[in-house]
Amino acid sequence: MPSILDSLPALRCPYYDVGPGSCTLWAYREAVCSTFFCKYVAGADGRKLWMSIKTLLSLVEIQLSRYALFKLHPEYIHHHRSRGETESGPLTADQLDEEAPPEAEYRAMWRGWTGREAELYRACFADVRGLSAADVERLLGLDGTLEQVILDRLYAAAVSPELPEVLRFNPDATVQRSREPQHDLAHVPPRAHPFHRLADLGPRHDEIDRRPPVP
Ligand code: SF4
Repeated sequence: MPSILDSLPALRCPYYDVGPGSCTLWAYREAVCSTFFCKYVAGADGRKLWMSIKTLLSLVEIQLSRYALFKLHPEYIHHHRSRGETESGPLTADQLDEEAPPEAEYRAMWRGWTGREAELYRACFADVRGLSAADVERLLGLDGTLEQVILDRLYAAAVSPELPEVLRFNPDATVQRSREPQHDLAHVPPRAHPFHRLADLGPRHDEIDRRPPVP
């Protein structure tokens, strides 16, 4: 099904390869990419649900990588290197250029895995693949339990929304014109941009009160 990204390549991710129609980075998309959508089913409730899934998936990624490193390369954990985000100070030139650090620092980081880096990644993958669902839940701990409780609540809100008693018009809401003429909104004036503010579509009710009338 054609999407808006077909006509607006500037909106595409720079890592997307149009030829094969695939990502040039990931064989299996990670937490951020797999939960990003230009538009969410169920509106704001759907967006909150996917943001919650992203939080949980990110926690899974972090805990699994730390678990595997702790088993296979514990010196890395002992020297707090798995917590790069807590390091203060300006970025170095090699960090900005996404290049390897100087030789001595590189060896201090990889230690016995220097020259065998790909082997470490494969060993981590094999280790993590052997974990059961119960193992993963244990690794996620209390944070994982809390995130799953939140996710369950947001899922229920997204699939069974409860309408408020008074519905108010959102003046910034937009509607997309159909590419099929027979599905088009007859009163929508033709525009170059596929989105229109609902406020531009003509007469409307700013507020709908669903409460039963007071006798
Ligand atoms: S999976 Fe992520 S990095 Fe890859 S093309 Fe899609 S958005 Fe870009």
